[in-house]
Amino acid sequence: MQSIDKYSFNGKRAIVRVDFNVPLNEKFEITDNTRIRAAIPTLKKVLAGGGSLIIMSHLGRPKGPTDKYSLKHIIGEIEKLLGVKVKFAPDCMGSDATEMSKNLKPGEALLLENLRFYEEEEGKPRGLAEDASDEDKKTAKVAVKAKQKDFVKKLASYADCYINDAFGTAHRAHASTALIAEYFPNDKMFGYVMEGEIKAVDKVLEKPARPFTAILGGSKVSSKITIIEQLMKKVNNLIIGGGMSFTFTKATGGKIGDSLVEDDQLALALRLLDQAKKAGVNIYLPKDVVVGDKFGEDANTQVCAVSNVPDGWMGLDAGTATIATWKEVIMSSKTILWNGPVGVFEMEKFAKGTAAVAQAVAESTQAGAYSLVGGGDSVAAVNQLGYADKVSYVSTGGGALLEYMEGIELPGVKAIRG
Ligand code: AMP
Repeated sequence: MQSIDKYSFNGKRAIVRVDFNVPLNEKFEITDNTRIRAAIPTLKKVLAGGGSLIIMSHLGRPKGPTDKYSLKHIIGEIEKLLGVKVKFAPDCMGSDATEMSKNLKPGEALLLENLRFYEEEEGKPRGLAEDASDEDKKTAKVAVKAKQKDFVKKLASYADCYINDAFGTAHRAHASTALIAEYFPNDKMFGYVMEGEIKAVDKVLEKPARPFTAILGGSKVSSKITIIEQLMKKVNNLIIGGGMSFTFTKATGGKIGDSLVEDDQLALALRLLDQAKKAGVNIYLPKDVVVGDKFGEDANTQVCAVSNVPDGWMGLDAGTATIATWKEVIMSSKTILWNGPVGVFEMEKFAKGTAAVAQAVAESTQAGAYSLVGGGDSVAAVNQLGYADKVSYVSTGGGALLEYMEGIELPGVKAIRG
Protein backbone atom coordinates (compact mmCIF):
# COMPACT_ATOMS: atom_id res chain seq x y z
CA MET A 1 0.00 0.00 0.00
CA GLN A 2 1.29 3.47 -0.88
CA SER A 3 1.61 6.11 1.79
CA ILE A 4 1.17 9.82 1.24
CA ASP A 5 4.40 10.49 3.12
CA LYS A 6 6.53 8.27 0.87
CA TYR A 7 4.83 8.73 -2.50
CA SER A 8 6.57 10.92 -5.07
CA PHE A 9 4.11 13.50 -6.39
CA ASN A 10 6.68 15.15 -8.61
CA GLY A 11 5.05 16.04 -11.95
CA LYS A 12 1.93 14.00 -11.06
CA ARG A 13 -1.70 15.03 -11.05
CA ALA A 14 -3.42 13.80 -7.88
CA ILE A 15 -7.18 13.48 -7.76
CA VAL A 16 -8.17 13.91 -4.12
CA ARG A 17 -11.58 13.03 -2.69
CA VAL A 18 -12.16 15.40 0.22
CA ASP A 19 -15.19 15.99 2.37
CA PHE A 20 -15.99 19.66 1.78
CA ASN A 21 -19.61 19.19 2.71
CA VAL A 22 -19.55 22.32 4.86
CA PRO A 23 -22.52 24.20 6.29
CA LEU A 24 -23.45 27.38 4.38
CA ASN A 25 -25.80 30.15 5.49
CA GLU A 26 -28.39 31.80 3.23
CA LYS A 27 -25.71 34.13 1.85
CA PHE A 28 -23.61 31.09 0.92
CA GLU A 29 -21.04 31.91 3.56
CA ILE A 30 -19.33 29.00 5.28
CA THR A 31 -20.39 28.84 8.92
CA ASP A 32 -17.89 26.13 9.93
CA ASN A 33 -14.76 25.48 7.87
CA THR A 34 -13.47 22.56 9.99
CA ARG A 35 -13.70 20.06 7.14
CA ILE A 36 -11.77 22.26 4.74
CA ARG A 37 -9.09 22.98 7.32
CA ALA A 38 -8.80 19.26 8.04
CA ALA A 39 -7.89 18.41 4.43
CA ILE A 40 -5.34 21.20 3.93
CA PRO A 41 -2.26 19.20 5.09
CA THR A 42 -3.00 16.51 2.49
CA LEU A 43 -3.51 19.07 -0.29
CA LYS A 44 -0.37 20.97 0.68
CA LYS A 45 1.67 17.76 0.74
CA VAL A 46 0.86 17.12 -2.95
CA LEU A 47 1.73 20.66 -3.98
CA ALA A 48 4.92 20.71 -1.92
CA GLY A 49 5.98 17.45 -3.57
CA GLY A 50 5.77 19.01 -7.03
CA GLY A 51 2.35 17.66 -7.95
CA SER A 52 -0.90 19.28 -8.98
CA LEU A 53 -4.36 18.85 -7.48
CA ILE A 54 -7.76 17.89 -8.77
CA ILE A 55 -10.01 18.32 -5.78
CA MET A 56 -13.40 16.59 -5.72
CA SER A 57 -16.18 16.57 -3.14
CA HIS A 58 -19.91 16.51 -2.63
CA LEU A 59 -21.94 19.26 -0.98
CA GLY A 60 -25.37 18.59 0.48
CA ARG A 61 -27.89 16.27 -1.10
CA PRO A 62 -28.75 17.79 -4.46
CA LYS A 63 -31.12 15.98 -6.80
CA GLY A 64 -29.25 17.44 -9.79
CA PRO A 65 -27.30 20.59 -10.69
CA THR A 66 -28.41 23.53 -8.55
CA ASP A 67 -26.79 26.81 -7.58
CA LYS A 68 -27.54 26.19 -3.91
CA TYR A 69 -25.16 23.26 -3.72
CA SER A 70 -22.48 24.55 -6.07
CA LEU A 71 -18.93 24.21 -4.82
CA LYS A 72 -18.16 27.59 -6.39
CA HIS A 73 -19.34 29.10 -3.08
CA ILE A 74 -16.34 27.66 -1.26
CA ILE A 75 -13.53 28.40 -3.74
CA GLY A 76 -12.49 31.54 -1.84
CA GLU A 77 -12.16 29.68 1.44
CA ILE A 78 -10.06 26.91 -0.11
CA GLU A 79 -7.79 29.50 -1.74
CA LYS A 80 -7.39 31.31 1.56
CA LEU A 81 -6.51 28.17 3.51
CA LEU A 82 -4.42 26.49 0.81
CA GLY A 83 -2.61 29.64 -0.21
CA VAL A 84 -2.87 29.09 -3.98
CA LYS A 85 -5.33 30.08 -6.68
CA VAL A 86 -7.94 27.39 -7.30
CA LYS A 87 -9.39 26.89 -10.80
CA PHE A 88 -12.94 25.66 -11.10
CA ALA A 89 -14.48 23.15 -13.52
CA PRO A 90 -18.22 23.95 -13.48
CA ASP A 91 -19.20 20.43 -14.55
CA CYS A 92 -17.20 17.51 -13.18
CA MET A 93 -17.90 15.55 -16.38
CA GLY A 94 -17.58 18.44 -18.85
CA SER A 95 -14.95 18.92 -21.53
CA ASP A 96 -13.64 21.82 -19.44
CA ALA A 97 -12.78 19.42 -16.67
CA THR A 98 -10.82 17.22 -19.07
CA GLU A 99 -8.95 20.17 -20.59
CA MET A 100 -8.27 21.89 -17.30
CA SER A 101 -6.94 18.76 -15.62
CA LYS A 102 -4.74 17.97 -18.63
CA ASN A 103 -3.22 21.45 -18.54
CA LEU A 104 -2.51 21.53 -14.81
CA LYS A 105 1.06 22.46 -13.98
CA PRO A 106 2.92 21.44 -10.83
CA GLY A 107 1.75 23.55 -7.92
CA GLU A 108 -1.67 24.26 -9.45
CA ALA A 109 -5.09 23.26 -8.11
CA LEU A 110 -8.40 22.57 -9.79
CA LEU A 111 -11.74 22.08 -8.02
CA LEU A 112 -14.43 19.99 -9.72
CA GLU A 113 -18.08 20.94 -9.34
CA ASN A 114 -20.22 18.94 -6.88
CA LEU A 115 -20.00 15.24 -7.77
CA ARG A 116 -23.53 14.63 -6.57
CA PHE A 117 -24.94 16.75 -9.38
CA TYR A 118 -24.70 13.38 -11.13
CA GLU A 119 -26.68 10.39 -9.87
CA GLU A 120 -23.73 8.26 -10.96
CA GLU A 121 -21.69 9.43 -7.96
CA GLU A 122 -23.91 7.54 -5.50
CA GLY A 123 -25.08 5.03 -8.10
CA LYS A 124 -28.69 5.45 -7.04
CA PRO A 125 -31.43 6.30 -9.57
CA ARG A 126 -33.14 9.65 -9.17
CA GLY A 127 -36.52 10.93 -10.25
CA LEU A 128 -38.34 7.63 -10.01
CA ALA A 129 -42.08 8.00 -9.56
CA GLU A 130 -43.29 7.26 -6.02
CA ASP A 131 -45.43 4.42 -7.33
CA ALA A 132 -42.73 2.96 -9.60
CA SER A 133 -42.94 -0.81 -9.79
CA ASP A 134 -40.17 -3.02 -8.48
CA GLU A 135 -39.36 -3.91 -12.07
CA ASP A 136 -38.99 -0.18 -12.98
CA LYS A 137 -36.80 0.39 -9.95
CA LYS A 138 -34.58 -2.52 -10.89
CA THR A 139 -34.26 -1.33 -14.49
CA ALA A 140 -33.40 2.21 -13.33
CA LYS A 141 -30.79 0.86 -10.96
CA VAL A 142 -29.15 -1.24 -13.64
CA ALA A 143 -29.10 1.81 -15.95
CA VAL A 144 -27.41 4.01 -13.33
CA LYS A 145 -24.84 1.35 -12.50
CA ALA A 146 -23.98 1.08 -16.20
CA LYS A 147 -23.59 4.87 -16.51
CA GLN A 148 -21.58 4.89 -13.29
CA LYS A 149 -18.78 2.90 -14.94
CA ASP A 150 -18.23 5.71 -17.47
CA PHE A 151 -18.44 8.31 -14.72
CA VAL A 152 -15.73 6.61 -12.68
CA LYS A 153 -13.54 6.07 -15.73
CA LYS A 154 -13.75 9.70 -16.69
CA LEU A 155 -12.90 10.95 -13.19
CA ALA A 156 -9.93 8.59 -13.14
CA SER A 157 -8.75 9.86 -16.54
CA TYR A 158 -8.02 13.29 -15.03
CA ALA A 159 -5.19 12.06 -12.82
CA ASP A 160 -2.10 9.92 -12.25
CA CYS A 161 -2.81 9.04 -8.64
CA TYR A 162 -5.76 8.93 -6.24
CA ILE A 163 -5.99 10.04 -2.62
CA ASN A 164 -9.01 9.41 -0.44
CA ASP A 165 -9.20 11.88 2.44
CA ALA A 166 -12.96 11.86 2.99
CA PHE A 167 -13.51 9.75 6.09
CA GLY A 168 -17.04 11.12 6.47
CA THR A 169 -18.15 9.22 3.34
CA ALA A 170 -15.85 6.21 3.69
CA HIS A 171 -18.82 4.02 4.63
CA ARG A 172 -20.33 4.55 1.19
CA ALA A 173 -19.25 2.66 -1.93
CA HIS A 174 -19.60 5.69 -4.17
CA ALA A 175 -17.78 6.43 -7.42
CA SER A 176 -15.30 8.88 -5.91
CA THR A 177 -14.89 7.23 -2.52
CA ALA A 178 -14.28 3.64 -3.54
CA LEU A 179 -14.89 2.64 -7.17
CA ILE A 180 -12.30 4.99 -8.66
CA ALA A 181 -9.50 3.30 -6.69
CA GLU A 182 -9.38 0.34 -9.07
CA TYR A 183 -7.94 2.60 -11.77
CA PHE A 184 -4.92 3.30 -9.60
CA PRO A 185 -3.77 -0.13 -8.38
CA ASN A 186 -0.28 1.13 -7.53
CA ASP A 187 -1.00 4.82 -7.06
CA LYS A 188 -3.77 5.02 -4.46
CA MET A 189 -3.44 6.10 -0.86
CA PHE A 190 -5.13 7.61 2.17
CA GLY A 191 -4.78 11.29 2.94
CA TYR A 192 -3.84 12.48 6.41
CA VAL A 193 -7.45 12.78 7.64
CA MET A 194 -8.18 9.17 6.71
CA GLU A 195 -4.87 7.97 8.14
CA GLY A 196 -5.50 9.77 11.42
CA GLU A 197 -9.04 8.45 11.77
CA ILE A 198 -8.05 4.86 11.07
CA LYS A 199 -5.12 5.03 13.46
CA ALA A 200 -7.27 6.53 16.24
CA VAL A 201 -10.03 3.93 15.95
CA ASP A 202 -7.56 1.06 15.67
CA LYS A 203 -5.77 2.31 18.77
CA VAL A 204 -8.98 2.21 20.74
CA LEU A 205 -10.36 -1.04 19.41
CA GLU A 206 -7.28 -3.17 18.97
CA LYS A 207 -5.12 -2.95 22.08
CA PRO A 208 -6.73 -0.46 24.43
CA ALA A 209 -4.98 0.39 27.67
CA ARG A 210 -7.27 -0.62 30.52
CA PRO A 211 -9.64 0.16 32.06
CA PHE A 212 -11.44 0.96 28.81
CA THR A 213 -14.62 3.01 29.19
CA ALA A 214 -17.15 3.79 26.49
CA ILE A 215 -19.66 6.58 27.02
CA LEU A 216 -22.74 6.32 24.85
CA GLY A 217 -25.48 8.90 24.72
CA GLY A 218 -27.93 10.32 22.22
CA SER A 219 -31.57 9.79 21.63
CA LYS A 220 -32.11 6.23 20.50
CA VAL A 221 -30.99 2.77 21.54
CA SER A 222 -32.22 1.35 18.26
CA SER A 223 -29.57 3.23 16.26
CA LYS A 224 -26.77 2.01 18.54
CA ILE A 225 -27.60 -1.66 19.12
CA THR A 226 -24.78 -3.11 17.03
CA ILE A 227 -22.22 -0.76 18.49
CA ILE A 228 -23.31 -1.56 22.06
CA GLU A 229 -23.00 -5.27 21.29
CA GLN A 230 -19.56 -4.82 19.74
CA LEU A 231 -18.30 -2.60 22.54
CA MET A 232 -19.52 -5.07 25.11
CA LYS A 233 -16.81 -7.44 23.86
CA LYS A 234 -14.11 -4.84 24.36
CA VAL A 235 -14.80 -2.44 27.21
CA ASN A 236 -14.59 -2.71 30.98
CA ASN A 237 -17.13 0.04 31.65
CA LEU A 238 -20.09 1.24 29.65
CA ILE A 239 -21.70 4.53 30.60
CA ILE A 240 -25.13 4.92 29.04
CA GLY A 241 -26.73 8.35 29.22
CA GLY A 242 -29.06 10.64 27.31
CA GLY A 243 -32.47 9.78 25.88
CA MET A 244 -31.50 6.19 25.19
CA SER A 245 -30.94 5.43 28.87
CA PHE A 246 -34.66 5.62 29.68
CA THR A 247 -35.41 2.54 27.61
CA PHE A 248 -33.05 0.63 29.92
CA THR A 249 -34.55 2.19 33.04
CA LYS A 250 -38.10 1.36 31.97
CA ALA A 251 -37.06 -2.16 31.00
CA THR A 252 -35.82 -2.78 34.54
CA GLY A 253 -39.09 -1.57 36.06
CA GLY A 254 -38.37 2.15 36.59
CA LYS A 255 -41.04 4.83 36.28
CA ILE A 256 -39.80 7.27 33.66
CA GLY A 257 -42.72 9.71 33.33
CA ASP A 258 -42.79 11.28 29.87
CA SER A 259 -39.11 10.66 29.10
CA LEU A 260 -38.04 9.50 25.67
CA VAL A 261 -38.48 5.75 25.33
CA GLU A 262 -38.52 3.09 22.64
CA ASP A 263 -41.12 0.63 23.85
CA ASP A 264 -40.28 -1.83 21.10
CA GLN A 265 -36.70 -2.05 22.39
CA LEU A 266 -37.43 -2.94 26.03
CA ALA A 267 -36.71 -6.64 25.58
CA LEU A 268 -33.52 -5.81 23.75
CA ALA A 269 -32.42 -3.49 26.55
CA LEU A 270 -32.82 -6.33 29.07
CA ARG A 271 -30.89 -8.66 26.79
CA LEU A 272 -28.05 -6.14 26.51
CA LEU A 273 -27.90 -5.72 30.28
CA ASP A 274 -27.77 -9.49 30.67
CA GLN A 275 -25.04 -9.73 28.03
CA ALA A 276 -23.01 -7.13 29.94
CA LYS A 277 -23.34 -9.06 33.17
CA LYS A 278 -22.10 -12.23 31.51
CA ALA A 279 -19.20 -10.39 29.90
CA GLY A 280 -18.22 -8.76 33.20
CA VAL A 281 -18.81 -5.27 31.83
CA ASN A 282 -19.87 -2.63 34.38
CA ILE A 283 -22.87 -0.67 33.16
CA TYR A 284 -23.41 2.83 34.52
CA LEU A 285 -26.90 4.14 33.85
CA PRO A 286 -28.08 7.46 35.36
CA LYS A 287 -29.16 7.34 39.01
CA ASP A 288 -30.70 10.78 39.14
CA VAL A 289 -31.87 13.04 36.33
CA VAL A 290 -32.77 16.64 35.68
CA VAL A 291 -36.35 16.59 34.50
CA GLY A 292 -38.34 19.28 32.70
CA ASP A 293 -42.09 19.77 32.41
CA LYS A 294 -41.67 20.31 28.69
CA PHE A 295 -39.05 19.91 25.97
CA GLY A 296 -37.87 23.50 25.84
CA GLU A 297 -35.48 26.09 27.19
CA ASP A 298 -38.35 27.60 29.23
CA ALA A 299 -39.25 24.34 30.98
CA ASN A 300 -39.55 24.21 34.77
CA THR A 301 -36.97 21.80 36.13
CA GLN A 302 -36.30 19.60 39.14
CA VAL A 303 -34.01 16.70 39.97
CA CYS A 304 -35.37 13.27 40.76
CA ALA A 305 -34.39 9.61 40.92
CA VAL A 306 -34.22 8.14 37.44
CA SER A 307 -36.70 5.40 38.28
CA ASN A 308 -39.19 7.81 39.81
CA VAL A 309 -39.88 10.49 37.22
CA PRO A 310 -43.32 12.06 37.84
CA ASP A 311 -45.93 11.92 35.08
CA GLY A 312 -45.85 15.04 32.94
CA TRP A 313 -42.08 15.38 33.40
CA MET A 314 -39.29 14.12 31.19
CA GLY A 315 -35.64 13.38 31.90
CA LEU A 316 -33.46 15.74 29.88
CA ASP A 317 -30.07 15.67 31.59
CA ALA A 318 -27.96 13.67 34.05
CA GLY A 319 -28.24 14.65 37.72
CA THR A 320 -25.39 15.52 40.09
CA ALA A 321 -25.08 12.09 41.75
CA THR A 322 -24.89 10.48 38.32
CA ILE A 323 -22.29 12.94 37.13
CA ALA A 324 -20.17 12.30 40.24
CA THR A 325 -20.18 8.53 39.63
CA TRP A 326 -19.47 8.88 35.91
CA LYS A 327 -16.66 11.28 36.64
CA GLU A 328 -14.99 8.76 38.95
CA VAL A 329 -15.24 6.05 36.29
CA ILE A 330 -13.88 8.34 33.58
CA MET A 331 -11.02 9.56 35.76
CA SER A 332 -9.91 6.01 36.51
CA SER A 333 -9.93 4.99 32.82
CA LYS A 334 -6.95 4.63 30.51
CA THR A 335 -8.91 4.48 27.25
CA ILE A 336 -12.11 6.45 26.66
CA LEU A 337 -14.49 6.39 23.73
CA TRP A 338 -17.32 8.90 23.73
CA ASN A 339 -20.23 8.97 21.33
CA GLY A 340 -23.42 10.95 21.88
CA PRO A 341 -24.48 13.66 24.35
CA VAL A 342 -25.83 12.58 27.75
CA GLY A 343 -28.56 15.22 27.77
CA VAL A 344 -30.23 17.77 25.55
CA PHE A 345 -27.02 19.78 25.40
CA GLU A 346 -28.40 22.16 22.77
CA MET A 347 -30.46 23.75 25.58
CA GLU A 348 -28.38 25.48 28.24
CA LYS A 349 -30.60 24.20 31.04
CA PHE A 350 -29.83 20.61 30.10
CA ALA A 351 -26.21 20.87 29.02
CA LYS A 352 -24.53 20.39 32.39
CA GLY A 353 -24.23 16.60 32.18
CA THR A 354 -22.64 16.69 28.74
CA ALA A 355 -20.34 19.53 29.82
CA ALA A 356 -19.28 17.53 32.89
CA VAL A 357 -18.55 14.47 30.75
CA ALA A 358 -16.50 16.62 28.35
CA GLN A 359 -14.56 18.06 31.26
CA ALA A 360 -13.95 14.66 32.85
CA VAL A 361 -12.76 13.22 29.53
CA ALA A 362 -10.40 16.19 29.13
CA GLU A 363 -9.06 15.84 32.68
CA SER A 364 -8.58 12.11 32.33
CA THR A 365 -6.71 12.71 29.06
CA GLN A 366 -4.51 15.19 30.87
CA ALA A 367 -3.78 12.47 33.41
CA GLY A 368 -2.63 10.11 30.66
CA ALA A 369 -5.71 8.42 29.20
CA TYR A 370 -6.26 8.12 25.44
CA SER A 371 -9.63 9.59 24.45
CA LEU A 372 -11.51 9.40 21.18
CA VAL A 373 -14.62 11.52 20.69
CA GLY A 374 -16.78 10.83 17.67
CA GLY A 375 -20.26 11.26 16.24
CA GLY A 376 -21.76 14.55 15.12
CA ASP A 377 -23.34 15.66 18.38
CA SER A 378 -20.56 14.79 20.78
CA VAL A 379 -18.10 16.51 18.44
CA ALA A 380 -20.37 19.58 18.40
CA ALA A 381 -20.48 19.40 22.20
CA VAL A 382 -16.69 19.29 22.70
CA ASN A 383 -16.25 22.09 20.16
CA GLN A 384 -18.98 24.21 21.69
CA LEU A 385 -17.62 23.68 25.20
CA GLY A 386 -14.02 24.35 24.19
CA TYR A 387 -12.59 20.89 24.89
CA ALA A 388 -11.70 19.87 21.33
CA ASP A 389 -7.96 20.30 21.84
CA LYS A 390 -8.03 18.71 25.30
CA VAL A 391 -9.01 15.22 24.15
CA SER A 392 -6.71 12.88 22.22
CA TYR A 393 -8.68 12.67 18.98
CA VAL A 394 -11.88 14.19 17.65
CA SER A 395 -13.27 12.17 14.77
CA THR A 396 -14.82 13.93 11.79
CA GLY A 397 -16.86 10.95 10.65
CA GLY A 398 -20.29 10.36 12.17
CA GLY A 399 -21.83 7.37 10.41
CA ALA A 400 -18.47 6.20 9.09
CA LEU A 401 -16.95 6.13 12.57
CA LEU A 402 -19.87 4.19 14.02
CA GLU A 403 -19.78 1.61 11.23
CA TYR A 404 -16.03 1.23 11.59
CA MET A 405 -16.41 0.70 15.32
CA GLU A 406 -19.15 -1.83 14.67
CA GLY A 407 -16.54 -3.88 12.85
CA ILE A 408 -17.89 -3.20 9.36
CA GLU A 409 -15.23 -2.93 6.70
CA LEU A 410 -15.71 0.52 5.15
CA PRO A 411 -15.72 0.47 1.32
CA GLY A 412 -13.57 3.60 1.20
CA VAL A 413 -10.96 1.99 3.44
CA LYS A 414 -11.09 -1.39 1.70
CA ALA A 415 -10.66 0.20 -1.73
CA ILE A 416 -7.27 1.54 -0.68
CA ARG A 417 -6.10 -1.05 1.79
CA GLY A 418 -7.39 -4.00 -0.22
P1 AMP B 1 -28.40 10.90 18.32
O1 AMP B 1 -28.77 11.64 17.08
O2 AMP B 1 -29.15 9.62 18.53
O3 AMP B 1 -26.91 10.75 18.52
O4 AMP B 1 -28.89 11.82 19.52
C1 AMP B 1 -28.44 13.13 19.70
C2 AMP B 1 -29.57 13.92 20.28
O5 AMP B 1 -30.03 13.29 21.46
C3 AMP B 1 -29.22 15.34 20.66
O6 AMP B 1 -29.90 16.22 19.82
C4 AMP B 1 -29.70 15.47 22.10
O7 AMP B 1 -30.39 16.67 22.36
C5 AMP B 1 -30.65 14.30 22.23
N1 AMP B 1 -30.85 13.87 23.62
C6 AMP B 1 -29.91 13.62 24.53
N2 AMP B 1 -30.47 13.31 25.70
C7 AMP B 1 -31.80 13.39 25.55
C8 AMP B 1 -32.91 13.19 26.41
N3 AMP B 1 -32.75 12.84 27.69
N4 AMP B 1 -34.15 13.34 25.90
C9 AMP B 1 -34.31 13.68 24.61
N5 AMP B 1 -33.31 13.88 23.74
C10 AMP B 1 -32.05 13.74 24.20
